[in-house]
Amino acid sequence: MPESPLRKAVFLDRDGTIIEDTVFSVDPARIRELPGALDGLRRLRRAGYLLVVITNQSGVARGFFGEDALRAFHDRLREWFAARGVELAAIYYCPHYPKGALPEYARDCACRKPMPGMILQAASDLQVDRARSWMVGDRDCDIGVGRAAGCRTVRIGTTPPGETTPDYEAANVAEAAERILAAEG
Ligand SMILES: [Zn+2]
Repeated sequence: MPESPLRKAVFLDRDGTIIEDTVFSVDPARIRELPGALDGLRRLRRAGYLLVVITNQSGVARGFFGEDALRAFHDRLREWFAARGVELAAIYYCPHYPKGALPEYARDCACRKPMPGMILQAASDLQVDRARSWMVGDRDCDIGVGRAAGCRTVRIGTTPPGETTPDYEAANVAEAAERILAAEG
């Protein structure tokens, strides 16, 4: 069998997974690594995975910051990781929130996790095989979005088990990388 031309990816939640939760801030001075994140991301990248961030950013719909400021923050975030040897292929965000303050964003959508819109879009844009890919995050919605998109899942951190069951659990992204690389043999 010829190898699939499609690529494999690890989709990653942002706040509470690869960086400390910025709590509705888009100030680059707030970027803080979570323990093990850089190490784990470097290992996944070396193993050939595209690293794609998938993040709900309801702060836009709530009126806390605009999409321009969010995109500028994400440019700084990619530079921050690149300076530390980690290439992030792309960052996708959902600006919506049904109870948001701004009418143009206060609606149901197909991209707010656990809806799979962001992963489906990224897989199309980046030619990713979802069945060979993974979703890593600290919340139920992260496990839900991974399953909905046909990816395997790793839940990290100490969040009490929720309604969704991940394929693996790990303390942090470094341990998640170990689980993923072990599962891939
Ligand atoms: Zn959305």
